[in-house]
Amino acid sequence: MWTKGWRERVWSQLDQHWDLIVIGGGITGAGIFREAAKSGLKVLLVEQNDFAAGTSSRSSKLVHGGLRYLKNAQVKLTYESVHEREHLLRDGRGLVSPLGFLLVNYQGDRPPAWVFGAGLILYDILAKKWSHRYYDSFDILELCPTLKEEQLRGGYRFFDAQTDDARLVLRVLREGVQAGGYALNYSAVTRLLKTSDQRVCGIVLEDRAGQGLPQMEIKAKVVINATGAWADVLRQAAGGAARLRKLRGSHLIFSQARLPLARAVSVLHPRDHRPVFIFPWEGITLVGTTDMDHPDDLNAEPHISAGEFVYLLQAVQALFPRLELTSADVQGTFAGVRPVIDSGKQDPSKESREYVLWEDNGLITVSGGKLTTFRLMARSALKRAIRQLGKHTPRPLDEHILDPLPSGELLAKDFSDAGLPANTRMRILGRYGCEAHALLDAAVPGLLTPVGGTPSLWAELLWAAHAEGVVHLSDLLMRRTRLGLTLPQGGLPLMDQIRSLTTAELDWTDAYWQAEIDAYSNLWHAHYNASQNHIDRTSVQDERVGIESLQEHVA
Ligand code: FAD
Repeated sequence: MWTKGWRERVWSQLDQHWDLIVIGGGITGAGIFREAAKSGLKVLLVEQNDFAAGTSSRSSKLVHGGLRYLKNAQVKLTYESVHEREHLLRDGRGLVSPLGFLLVNYQGDRPPAWVFGAGLILYDILAKKWSHRYYDSFDILELCPTLKEEQLRGGYRFFDAQTDDARLVLRVLREGVQAGGYALNYSAVTRLLKTSDQRVCGIVLEDRAGQGLPQMEIKAKVVINATGAWADVLRQAAGGAARLRKLRGSHLIFSQARLPLARAVSVLHPRDHRPVFIFPWEGITLVGTTDMDHPDDLNAEPHISAGEFVYLLQAVQALFPRLELTSADVQGTFAGVRPVIDSGKQDPSKESREYVLWEDNGLITVSGGKLTTFRLMARSALKRAIRQLGKHTPRPLDEHILDPLPSGELLAKDFSDAGLPANTRMRILGRYGCEAHALLDAAVPGLLTPVGGTPSLWAELLWAAHAEGVVHLSDLLMRRTRLGLTLPQGGLPLMDQIRSLTTAELDWTDAYWQAEIDAYSNLWHAHYNASQNHIDRTSVQDERVGIESLQEHVA
């Protein structure tokens, strides 16, 4: 699938009448695409950038009920989310893993610890799974010895889950393709086609991979707009009104050597009492997130602001004072934009994270929501589409959320031949599903070893270059693998090795390689590097940042 020449092959088959076109290749579009293909619809998905390049590769990577949504009385959202979490943990082993959390409580925290205790009881009841427990300060320090001891009262341990968000999108998409759907990255919808009575009946599609493929007018019985934070653009083109509030959330990345954690820690930020998470992921430690209005052009890569940088750094400095972390310890950053339904709340964190369906002259839009609830969003959108199609019944909800993994016996043999440890085996299975075999087959000896200190294998880079629709170097390093986030300097120091491994598969000329390396380097330095120009170095001192001086930088 998606081997050399696949975009041209798919492009040459676009001129047919589709049951359904899905616009947007993030988790929402991927979920709809997979469900539609599995229910027998002739479905095409188009994405203007790379698959998952929007918000769906920039989340906090949590598959969770969202304890904090209970505080905003979003009980239905939490109930649905914890159920979907359980489905994902069951079907997505190796890609979705349980994650222990410590919810630490310090003297003077608002709200006080008993409020969280009550919330966790409700959380567990909703999930029908009793998993939380209270620990006093002594036991909490045993579980996380680097925490600030002063004024520590104790805290709760509970469980949620985490994933690799971009790989989740890829797995869902590829299962849709295996079920007969067609998906294209770097293909932008520039206009909607309409009937004489102004109903949406198709799209105008432009190639954005620079392959010179001709612009296409493509008809469909139903068009679904799953463009996340971009959704207002197409809704307005269909005659609807703008309804979204775009909220940026950013993260800091630390090496585990500087900020070692065995489990996630959630703490109330000393400045505004918002919950901040610090958690291990793919061999690094992430700190997030923020909630800021994002007025910038959505097509420009989002990045952390100086205020957000300082705000997040302050949270880790306050929680782990003995580690003496400074801005120089921040290995990288990333930011994403949430599509949130605008209800005009002054505090962005209070806006609902529920998803919404709209219909404007036949164009169905689904936006808002969360990574965790993608299947529910897909089902609702598809149900609405099927009303327009007048045929097909969607499968009942108790079907698998991801395809079952291939038979254990066969894989156990392959993997033991390859000499991979159990956690790496599960990781490969979870990420590549039934293609795990092919990935192993393609790997020559020596490639089943980790890249740098990360859990990614060299063989994954080779496989992605061979069969995962890579158009640009950033696709390979930011989304097929996550080396752009997990390696120091975005993996740039390893570029010679990456190039010599993948060059035969990618079939790029020397000039193309050079242009790609330059573009990737510019992207990383401008948007992911902790010392990028737009973070005002005078406001981020290289010593510990004092709380007083911080406050003026947090808008
Ligand atoms: P996107 O992933 O943005 O996909 C929309 C796609 O549409 C984009 O790729 C875009 O390029 C494409 N597109 C736009 N216009 C066009 C066009 N004209 N033609 C073709 N394609 C087009 N959720 C959780 O469950 N857990 C979390 O831990 C979590 N953390 C988060 C942290 C942050 C900082 C943020 C910002 C969000 C977080 N979320 C989390 C929410 C979750 O990430 C989003 O709800 C989800 O990724 C949105 O997916 P989407 O497919 O709707 O949008």
